[in-house]
Amino acid sequence: MRLTRAPNLLIAQHWINLLEQAHIRCELHNQYLLGAMGEIPADQCSPEIWLEREGDLDLATRIINGTWHEPGQSAAQWCCASCGEWSEPQFTVCWQCGAAKDE
Ligand SMILES: [Zn+2]
Repeated sequence: MRLTRAPNLLIAQHWINLLEQAHIRCELHNQYLLGAMGEIPADQCSPEIWLEREGDLDLATRIINGTWHEPGQSAAQWCCASCGEWSEPQFTVCWQCGAAKDE
């Protein structure tokens, strides 16, 4: 069954990764149409994400909508006060300039 349609392949791939991390079996459809862009209506060639199991729909929808987080993984990226670069939450110093994270 179809879960959702992604605006582009990059986002679709990202969503697939998130779903697979949650052990949801899913498939990417319509990728092959991207090469034919321009010959068919744009809304016909967006990548679609399909679920293998209907029971995963609720969780999958929440993951896609960004309202679901793995426990302990909800930390956000942080912005360096010194150089303005963004770093992943697991780093305590800026990866670019080495400044300590401003807590
Ligand atoms: Zn910095």
